[in-house]
Amino acid sequence: MTAIIEFKHVDKYYGKLHALKDINLKIDEGQVVSIIGPSGSGKSTLIRTMNGLEPINSGQLIVTGYDLADKKTDINKIRKNVGMVFQHFNLYNNHTVLENVMLAPKIVLKRPDDENRKTAMEYLEKVGMADKINSLPRQLSGGQKQRVAIARSLAMHPKVILFDEPTSALDPEMIEDVLEVMKFVADQGITMVVVTHEMGFAKKVSNRLIFFDAGHILEDRKPEEFFAHPDTERARQFLSKVI
Ligand code: ADP
Ligand code: MG
Repeated sequence: MTAIIEFKHVDKYYGKLHALKDINLKIDEGQVVSIIGPSGSGKSTLIRTMNGLEPINSGQLIVTGYDLADKKTDINKIRKNVGMVFQHFNLYNNHTVLENVMLAPKIVLKRPDDENRKTAMEYLEKVGMADKINSLPRQLSGGQKQRVAIARSLAMHPKVILFDEPTSALDPEMIEDVLEVMKFVADQGITMVVVTHEMGFAKKVSNRLIFFDAGHILEDRKPEEFFAHPDTERARQFLSKVI
């Protein structure tokens, strides 16, 4: 199986701060990978490098066949293949729900509006937001905004969706709805890389778990094995605090 994302000896610095240290990682098509670890360990940096939101300083990073370390690579080609869902939704606040989902296929893929409307409606139905198509983001709850953000990502038919703490800004009663939508995404066979504090998602939906600490991958295992027997003391300490 060929990797859809491959890091080879990747390093990333913010000034003197060594945020990613010699990362070697292969993610195969269709995998659902949870990344957990302490705050400030570099989880966001790691996934933001995967669609070029953060440049790397050395090593090689190949995503959907494109080399992110190569200055000649057109980053827009990667972003067509790789969607991202953020903690704070990043919806276009002066556009309706429907427009939010129609916009990128129109502008980036140059698809006609009748097709974009059909695709948008299809995914808004899937995420349970079809009755809010004319609402503005400020009229929605956090959980509803996040479901729209996921529909917006799906409408681009990406190969990969990156999620950076998608439920961390939500009230507890809204988390379940968003996790259910993420499970739907996983069932489509889309490759997912998810930074999360939701141990339930990590255990039940993802099929691979990465424990990240201080710029390193400390453990990379099957979730059930990780939760039953973490290999490292760092992971044991972390789990004792979050579970
Ligand atoms: P996590 O997502 O695990 O909390 P981050 O990837 O956000 O960790 O951050 C890793 C380290 O890099 C932290 O020390 C953080 O302060 C630092 N960092 C993150 N983004 C920047 C930035 N844009 N400029 C400088 N330092 C940053
Ligand atoms: Mg983060």
